[in-house]
Amino acid sequence: MSAHARSFLPAAALLAITVACEPSYTGPPADLVVRNANVLTIDKDHPRAEAVAVIGEEIVAVGSDRAIEAYIGEATEVIDADGRLVVPGFNDAHAHYGPLDPEYIELRYITDPQVITERVRERVAQVEPGVLIRGGHWEHEMFTDRQWPTKELLDDVAPNNPVSLSRADGHSTLVNSYVIGASGITKDTPDPPGGEIQKDPVTGEPTGIFKESAQRLLEYDAVEVDRTPEETAALRDQGWEQMLEHTRSLGVTSIQHPGGGDAETYQRMMDQGRLTVRVDVAGSLTDDPERLAAYDSLRTRYPPEGNWIRFGMLKGFMDGTLGSGTAMFFEPYEDDPDTRGLPQMSQEELEARVLAADAMGFQIGIHAIGTEANHWILNAFEKAREANGVRDSRHRSEHAQVLTDSDIPRFAELGVIASMQPTHCITDKRFAEKRIGLERSRGAYAWRRLLDAGAKIAFGTDYSVEPLNPMEGLYAAVTRKDRLGEEGEGWFPDQKLTMEEAIELYTLGSAYAQFMEDRKGMIKEGYLADLVIVDRDLLTIPEDQIMQTLLDVTVVGGKVVYRR
Ligand SMILES: [Zn+2]
Repeated sequence: MSAHARSFLPAAALLAITVACEPSYTGPPADLVVRNANVLTIDKDHPRAEAVAVIGEEIVAVGSDRAIEAYIGEATEVIDADGRLVVPGFNDAHAHYGPLDPEYIELRYITDPQVITERVRERVAQVEPGVLIRGGHWEHEMFTDRQWPTKELLDDVAPNNPVSLSRADGHSTLVNSYVIGASGITKDTPDPPGGEIQKDPVTGEPTGIFKESAQRLLEYDAVEVDRTPEETAALRDQGWEQMLEHTRSLGVTSIQHPGGGDAETYQRMMDQGRLTVRVDVAGSLTDDPERLAAYDSLRTRYPPEGNWIRFGMLKGFMDGTLGSGTAMFFEPYEDDPDTRGLPQMSQEELEARVLAADAMGFQIGIHAIGTEANHWILNAFEKAREANGVRDSRHRSEHAQVLTDSDIPRFAELGVIASMQPTHCITDKRFAEKRIGLERSRGAYAWRRLLDAGAKIAFGTDYSVEPLNPMEGLYAAVTRKDRLGEEGEGWFPDQKLTMEEAIELYTLGSAYAQFMEDRKGMIKEGYLADLVIVDRDLLTIPEDQIMQTLLDVTVVGGKVVYRR
């Protein structure tokens, strides 16, 4: 900064600059100093540094080891990073966050549907007849035969227990005959609006797969496990502790709920001193004045000025998913020409809800995967500007997965955030072209095209659809390759990001999406002290090491909450 520019700054700002740069700092010592580090600050003005000083919850100085030396006092906790990479804490802009469930059957990444049978058999042996068996995260596109699983996988091993296993995207559920019977569903039951009861093409019988709103038809007729309320609460509490520990170990310091999230539970954990991740809870997009008023009072209790528990967006659903074949397109699916997807609300409902929520100053996030779903919501956001006036609304397309050429520039024009999950790209690319063809795939997960058009992007995972681990997202963003690696340059390699860009979207980009870019997402003076020490240099390692990368230290609000 030139001397001329400096002369326009108020005295306090001048002092701050002097303090940050000179080793002659004589203020109170820092509580925490990280030094001898390779700091990627994400701050465009000072992209690199060696050391960071923290007092309380806040970063007070970022600079060279020599400059930060002066902040070290007797009581200062000093972490020697030994040259390792330090980046801002990861902010997951779309995580269906909650306690881990020790009784849940985890089916992620299985390739053999017989595993489902085996796991259910094991679980049935541990419980009484009638107890609900829950699990999921299976993904039939990962099965070697790539066929939808059916109730036959479950019926022999679980004749007397309801079984409910959701697909990884949560938009389809596999159940057994016990559940189909308990739900009173037969070959003659019609599909509900916005849903599908998958039926055997030969017999017409339900296969056990229920898509989208058809999942709401399911009844389990389950026997409650005999537990006292205290036992139930203790189990849940234990699940929360496991989840928080998992989150700390991954360097995730902020999460944003896309719908749901119980502010009071977080407040209780906060009061107990256990909360180690910053949380935005959310509501459901509605035009019901009473519900909007209730969200408004929740927002007053957990206001945007807060740093830990805040009320975030109102979230709605426009369509389904590509994997379930329910995302909404202008043109039919290539592999199922009878369908263009399933809208989850009418255009009238969409507009009424967006206009009502926007008029009350809420941020709105709408799940939109297909081209037409994204087109509809952009139109609705545009209408809201016309009706209610232009403001810094930062409405969001949650997923923004497949876009038409003409809609890409509208994100910047309308100030709409593309809230995207890079792992969806490498999960869905296995079947995207089969479903929507090559031409439409050009607009799929089009990070580079969106950035070039001036759009703001926030990164997240869609946990628990995808794992919470940010390293998988970074890998996906910079490679666009299968998790197991593959030859070549990746899927639509012109859309790949650099590692630095990917980290920025996962930190500052996500902070912007929640109106917190003035205090979160960079390692910068005055910012919240959320940062992580990474065990290897993400910017230089070969791509096959990215997903093996671990976090050594996680700092949230100036406190070391995790050490490997
Ligand atoms: Zn989601």
